[in-house]
Amino acid sequence: PSTLYIVATPIGNLGDITLRAIETLKQVDLIAAEDTRHSGLLLQHLAIQGRLFALHDHNEQQKSAVLIEKLKSGLSIALISDAGTPLINDPGYHLVKACYEQKINVVPIPGPCAAIAALCVSGLPTDRFCYEGFLPSKSKSRIDLLTQLQQETRTIVFYESTHRIMDSLNDMLTIYGADRMVVLAKELTKSWETVIHQPLGQLIAWLKIDSNRQKGEFVLIIEGFQQVEQQTLDPKAIQLLHQLQRELP
Ligand code: SAM
Repeated sequence: PSTLYIVATPIGNLGDITLRAIETLKQVDLIAAEDTRHSGLLLQHLAIQGRLFALHDHNEQQKSAVLIEKLKSGLSIALISDAGTPLINDPGYHLVKACYEQKINVVPIPGPCAAIAALCVSGLPTDRFCYEGFLPSKSKSRIDLLTQLQQETRTIVFYESTHRIMDSLNDMLTIYGADRMVVLAKELTKSWETVIHQPLGQLIAWLKIDSNRQKGEFVLIIEGFQQVEQQTLDPKAIQLLHQLQRELP
C-alpha cells in the first residue's frame, strides 16, 4: 500500500541523518520538502537523486490535496522539512490529517528535533514538559501568553529567533522575575553549540555582553513554577508534617 513517511533530518550536523532516513529517501517515489533548494543540497550531500515537491506552510492545504492524489495512485512519499522533525513547527499537519481521512499509511522515521535535543541537556525536569513553539511576535499577545503560563508547573520549551530573543527574555523577566531558572540552547549540533543554564536575570546579562551571543538558532527552556510551600507554612506545621510522614505507613 502507498505510504507517507515522516522523515526527520539533521538540525545542523549532517552526521545526524539516520540510516533509515537515507534508505527511505532513496526508496520513495517523491520527496515533499519545505524548501526544495535547501533540501536539494541535503540530498546532494547524501548522493540521493530524489524527485522533490514543494510543500510550504502557506500552500500546504492546497498542495496536500495533490500529494494525496499521488499517494492514492500508489506512489510512496517522504516528507522532510528544512531541519529536524516535520510537523514540529514545520509543515505537514494537514497532509497527515488528510492521510487518515483517506486511509493512507503514515510511518515515522524519527531523528533530530531541536526541542528534545535541548530538553535532555537542559538540567531541568524532563518527566513532564510542555512545548509552546514560537512565542507570538506581537508584544501584547506575547505578554498574554507568558502570563497564562506563569503558574505552569511543567518545564516549558520555546523556539526563538535571533530577532526576538531579547524582547522575549525581557517580557519573561517582567512576568517570571529574575530568579526563574532558564536554559538557552543555541546552535545545537553545530560548531558554536552553547547551552547556558542560569537564572533569567543572569542569562539576559550574559547575552547583553556581546551582541553576537544573540545570534543563531535557539531553544529556550523555562523551569516550571515552583510552589514554595515550606516558606509559606508555619515551621511548627512543617515539623508536624515530618513527624506524620515518619509515623504513617
Ligand atoms: N522541525 C524543527 C525541529 O524538529 O526542531 C524545528 C523547525 S522551526 C521552523 C526552527 C526553529 O527550531 C529555530 O528557530 C530554532 O528555534 C529551533 N532550532 C532548529 N535548529 C536548531 C539548532 N541547531 N539549535 C537550536 N535551535 C534550533
